[in-house]
Amino acid sequence: MAAVVIENLVKTYPSGHRRATDDVTLEVSDGEFLVLVGPSGCGKTTLLRMVAGLETPDAGTVRIGERDVTRLPARHRSLSMVFQSYAIFPHMTVRQNIGFGLTMAKVPRDEWASRVARAAGLLNLGDQLDRHPAQLSGGQRQRVAVARAIVVNADVLLMDEPLSNLDALLRMQFRAELKRIVARLGTTTLYVTHDQAEAMSLGDRVAVMREGSIAQLGTPMEVYDRPAQRFVGGFLGTPPMNFFDAVVAPDGHADHDKPVRLTAGDRVIPGPARLSGWAGRPVTVGVRAENIEVSLQDGPGRSHAEVEVAEPTGAAMLLTVRWGGDELKVLAPAAFPARPGDRVWLGMPEHALRCFDPETSLAL
Ligand code: ATP
Repeated sequence: MAAVVIENLVKTYPSGHRRATDDVTLEVSDGEFLVLVGPSGCGKTTLLRMVAGLETPDAGTVRIGERDVTRLPARHRSLSMVFQSYAIFPHMTVRQNIGFGLTMAKVPRDEWASRVARAAGLLNLGDQLDRHPAQLSGGQRQRVAVARAIVVNADVLLMDEPLSNLDALLRMQFRAELKRIVARLGTTTLYVTHDQAEAMSLGDRVAVMREGSIAQLGTPMEVYDRPAQRFVGGFLGTPPMNFFDAVVAPDGHADHDKPVRLTAGDRVIPGPARLSGWAGRPVTVGVRAENIEVSLQDGPGRSHAEVEVAEPTGAAMLLTVRWGGDELKVLAPAAFPARPGDRVWLGMPEHALRCFDPETSLAL
């Protein structure tokens, strides 16, 4: 196993009008599962391919363990890759496909067989070994691709959207399995996906990318609950974080222990005490749907809203409500008896509010 250290990686494609990766620095610790996630075109694949040795950076370095591999060809980097497109060989059996890397490395026959059997066992392919890829389902083919990558015991495992060809249910099942397998192997893993739920589920840490840079790096709960910038809150979560404009009430002296008052149109709610230095200035407030308290009755600190849409998800009731001039998503209990047109009251716990500078979009 080995850490992967990426320093100041810059890449511009000859035909590209901006940098595909713009001075990216990132360390994947030894044995860590790190996920790169972000919208299409943010540079995830480019970054992964530079680590793999399939793309040459304009500037910056990649180290694997103690070795500077920036100029080494892919085959000398001690890593294995799994792609979205499986890239398994149609003319070979499952056994031959899984053992391909070991064949290339001229691993002795007995060891070859035992390692292939172990990898096949881990991926539940034990009874498929004599079949050809054409006889397998999409999910099984993807398992072959993963088995082939892990069998070689490389220092680093790189995966680029490995689940994206699978249907939603299979994707979710295989996701949990992949997590278990990689945890058991303890291989340092860098994993690319545009699916934020997959990123949260798999990563020890998640690097959220935007326009060639890392917007935030943290544990799944850190990036979900404490977005460092508005973009991260709006990208992660189903539904994404709600945002509304407010002004910090310009009252009194700065007192760092007392909640401030936030006014959003005609609504006034308590805001975090650390905004006391921001008095009189506008803020963008972010709040997650599950953190808004919704009730059919008025009460202290509550303000009214009108239900526009009620969507039962089974586990909860997802409401779209009109709250003054803003539209918010609110997660209510599954049996919450609200219908379009109904009036409800919202409570916004001060500890659940995230505030951003409207000019820079950075967290305050
Ligand atoms: P996706 O999720 O859609 O694969 P991504 O986050 O992996 O996106 P990249 O594929 O790394 O993003 O692309 C980053 C930027 O570089 C994009 O603007 C893309 O158009 C550009 N780009 C990628 N590959 C090439 C190429 N071979 N030639 C020119 N531009 C490219």
